[in-house]
Amino acid sequence: MNILVINCGSSSLKYQLIDSESEKVLAKGLCERIGIDGSAITHQPAGGEKVTVETDMPDHTVAVKLVIEKLTDKEVGVIGSLDEIGAVGHRIVHGGEKFASSVVITDEVLKQVEDCNDLAPLHNPANLVGINSCKAVMPHVPMVGVFDTAFHQTMPKKAYMYGLPYEYYEKYKVRRYGFHGTSHDFVSKRAAEILGKDRKDLKIIVCHLGNGASVSAVKNGESVDTSMGLTPLEGLIMGTRSGDMDPAIITFVAEKEHITAEEFINICNKKSGVLGLSDGLSSDFRDLGQAADEGNVKAKEALETYCYRVAKYIGAYTAAMNGVDVIAFTAGIGENNAQVREMVGQYLGFLGVNIDPEKNKIRGEEVILSGEGDKVTVMVVPTNEELAIARETVRLLK
Ligand code: ADP
Repeated sequence: MNILVINCGSSSLKYQLIDSESEKVLAKGLCERIGIDGSAITHQPAGGEKVTVETDMPDHTVAVKLVIEKLTDKEVGVIGSLDEIGAVGHRIVHGGEKFASSVVITDEVLKQVEDCNDLAPLHNPANLVGINSCKAVMPHVPMVGVFDTAFHQTMPKKAYMYGLPYEYYEKYKVRRYGFHGTSHDFVSKRAAEILGKDRKDLKIIVCHLGNGASVSAVKNGESVDTSMGLTPLEGLIMGTRSGDMDPAIITFVAEKEHITAEEFINICNKKSGVLGLSDGLSSDFRDLGQAADEGNVKAKEALETYCYRVAKYIGAYTAAMNGVDVIAFTAGIGENNAQVREMVGQYLGFLGVNIDPEKNKIRGEEVILSGEGDKVTVMVVPTNEELAIARETVRLLK
């Protein structure tokens, strides 16, 4: 069965068509600037060239129609008609406490997802627009929602409660939810598979280091803690997000800069992280690495601060699980940036970890970086959230 995987943002829509039997990507693409001037669709059939067409996309429904047009196109298409799409799998960012696993999308589910909108005001409404647009274009195709938060719903209360008045949890559901759950689940599962072990017998720390970044502690197959919180702003220092900080900074800086708390949080989301630390140089680790090599002190310090935070979380989660068997790096930086892995690895000597510098040069592949006899296995496991969503979609429809 072919599964169309949709990841819908407020002005973008990413898609992949995956054959669930071979698990091969048949085609993928991206609609950008939906509802804004200069919108374009980029489509790439497997083994073929990317084609980008600038075309008017006033809303997401038009974008979905264009995606179907491209998928069934005579030249760049990969299927004959809409009938060859067996199901659609949607990424949904926030499932609150309602969704501890993926669900077949019904009107009732849509209502419940909508109830979670205020927990993720930038993401959930866009995810819903994507679902409704697909329903409009493909009314008879079954759809599944896969939540970023679901995998972390197994966290114990001591891990998800904040030290705040209890009423905020009761009234507003203020608690840690965690994100990137699809990736933490996929990577921890795959890590166990590579090692020929049952995930239920392992203590795994997954470091998902992309533009957004989070660490999770996966004990006996369940997430027991994760670094992102009520929103994806908490935890690690990220590309443009601050991660953990003293909440008193918000009013302190807001007063000095004559800005509102909301404006300051926007700065914490978009202008902070390594971008902020490097004094606006870049949020991209390739740029920062190059600048650091060329002697840019702030870029070098940004990388050091970033890696130090990752290492601290690994230490914390080792304590949370009373040990660790596997540390897995994933996502853009985790898979490709040897320098970051090496710098984090330097803090892990207390665990008896030795990262092999030769193996660490490998990029974007499954590889074990630690030595044979090491007590803790450090590895790179490329994530594949789209494939995980396709698998979930098939699982639910069976
Ligand atoms: P997102 O969270 O947006 O999916 P990614 O997982 O693609 O982000 O991570 C983006 C980061 O990964 C960037 O800082 C970039 O430098 C780094 N990165 C991605 N691909 C590569 C690569 N091939 N080589 C080196 N760094 C990479």
